[in-house]
Amino acid sequence: MLEIKNLHASVEDKEILKGINLEVKPGEVHAIMGPNGAGKSTLSAVIAGNENFEVTQGEIILDGEDLGDLAPEERAHKGIFLSFQYPVEIPGVSVTNFIKTAINESRKAKGLEDMPANEMLKLIKEKSELLEIDRKFLSRSLNEGFSGGEKKRNEIFQMAMLDPKIAILDETDSGLDIDALRIVANGVNKLKSENNAVIVITHYQRLLDYIVPDFVHVLHDGKIVKTGGKELALELEEKGYDWLK
Ligand code: ADP
Ligand code: MG
Ligand code: MG
Repeated sequence: MLEIKNLHASVEDKEILKGINLEVKPGEVHAIMGPNGAGKSTLSAVIAGNENFEVTQGEIILDGEDLGDLAPEERAHKGIFLSFQYPVEIPGVSVTNFIKTAINESRKAKGLEDMPANEMLKLIKEKSELLEIDRKFLSRSLNEGFSGGEKKRNEIFQMAMLDPKIAILDETDSGLDIDALRIVANGVNKLKSENNAVIVITHYQRLLDYIVPDFVHVLHDGKIVKTGGKELALELEEKGYDWLK
């Protein structure tokens, strides 16, 4: 479904990704781990099409289509979801209204009419019940005064509503408490299916106690230096990263 081939990317002429190869098939969960500064967030940003980074070599292919020069919105419409892509506070715009707009924008890009209101309500009800999100939360202003856990709840709700093919969750936040971890993990476990795939980026092994990955990749200095199964995360917990450098 997603194929990354020999991906090199730079920022301000400094090469950060130095030849990444990664293949993600439907139904799979991949964890990307690695020390601070390895390039994990850069990789997620580059997949999502962040224009601060320049792809100097290689390809990112989704369902056979090279994402090449597509803008972030176009990639989102094709089914790439990156957590925290919209971390802005928008006073006066509720969690629900924000996602309604995002869904209708995406439909418009595909030449479709707005989703009928009753269908939208049904979808919101279904996804919020699945994720145990209460109505009060849905009517709050986007990200305004949200706790870490509430930000995660909003992200997972966005992911549920947008139903992406590839969800990339970059758990950069060192302040992730156990509640926030559980919200992310429960959400991912409920939303994963045979038609989508999840890439979880973290340097916390404990997130992977809740989200069990099919593959663990270690990123170091812009390259994947080791790939293994879920047991690799435990080995890293025990031994750290130095033995891989
Ligand atoms: P990780 O998420 O693995 O901690 P990052 O992808 O955030 O790593 O960063 C990888 C390297 O790229 C670091 O050396 C970082 O300083 C550098 N980097 C990331 N973004 C920028 C940027 N916008 N400008 C300059 N350097 C950057
Ligand atoms: Mg970092
Ligand atoms: Mg990071």
